[in-house]
Amino acid sequence: MTRPPRRPTWRAARLTGVRPETGSARTLRFEVPGWPGHLAGQHVDVRVTAEDGYSAQRSYSLAAPADGDAIELTVEAVPDGEVSPYLTEVIEAGDEVEIRGPVGGWFVWRPESTAPVLLVGGGAGIVPLMAMIRARRLAGSRVPFRLLYSLRDPGSRYYADELRRPDPGLDVAYLYSRSTPEGWPRLAGRIMLDDLAEGGWPADFEPDCYVCGPTGFVERAADLLLALGHAPGRVRTERFGPTGG
Ligand SMILES: Cc1cc2nc3c(=O)[nH]c(=O)nc-3n(C[C@H](O)[C@H](O)[C@H](O)COP(=O)(O)OP(=O)(O)OC[C@H]3O[C@@H](n4cnc5c(N)ncnc54)[C@H](O)[C@@H]3O)c2cc1C
Repeated sequence: MTRPPRRPTWRAARLTGVRPETGSARTLRFEVPGWPGHLAGQHVDVRVTAEDGYSAQRSYSLAAPADGDAIELTVEAVPDGEVSPYLTEVIEAGDEVEIRGPVGGWFVWRPESTAPVLLVGGGAGIVPLMAMIRARRLAGSRVPFRLLYSLRDPGSRYYADELRRPDPGLDVAYLYSRSTPEGWPRLAGRIMLDDLAEGGWPADFEPDCYVCGPTGFVERAADLLLALGHAPGRVRTERFGPTGG
């Protein structure tokens, strides 16, 4: 009989660097001694503990491939949230939290994979998809990637400079749900069948599709991909709703 995998243990993680992404999101770099490594697409649990001993934990996707003991997370401040405002506004270099992981074995991209890839991200759902884009580049993979990145407005774009730089074999398209840049050819609105038909791969190419974002966005985009003929086993989803959502 095989044993079930052991739950990873909590490790101390020290914040070593911070980069702003937007007015409400920032990337945090932690040093986690003994970090076992991870795959692009996996996430971690972060536990923060107040001086009086009260603690709270939330899940955050790993934003970059494994780099020794260093990991990166990108966190969006949720208004009135318990943990995300602490991570985006309060924690400073040198401070410690606890991290457990990596978690998840299905929503992952492996550099040895040869299928074309479609990434569909809504809001903070870009985070694990960016880890996949970075892992592809790091591995020198020539697998073609397409990213459809849905945002509320032009100011909500994460990783803007990096996604603007040429990356052969990676196509990036933006969709805006609330307001667009001036002169943008597509009206602001929710993701539509045409967006996926034009910006994705034909189902015949048998791409691996990764969809991540708020629950409603993920369900809609996954349904549209199935309507376009993509096989359910090739549409992998990760929902970022509130815990339990
Ligand atoms: C697998 C996984 C990976 C995730 N990765 C990321 C990531 O990379 N970056 C990131 O910023 N977040 C990510 N999240 C979301 C994150 O775990 C928290 O839910 C989020 O940071 C809010 O936590 P909070 O303690 O600030 O808010 P809470 O105190 O939990 O909630 C406060 C209020 O905000 C609402 N709320 C909570 N979460 C959300 C949300 N995500 N969207 C809208 N409203 C919400 C709640 O219903 C409540 O009304 C991920 C979630 C999962 C399940």
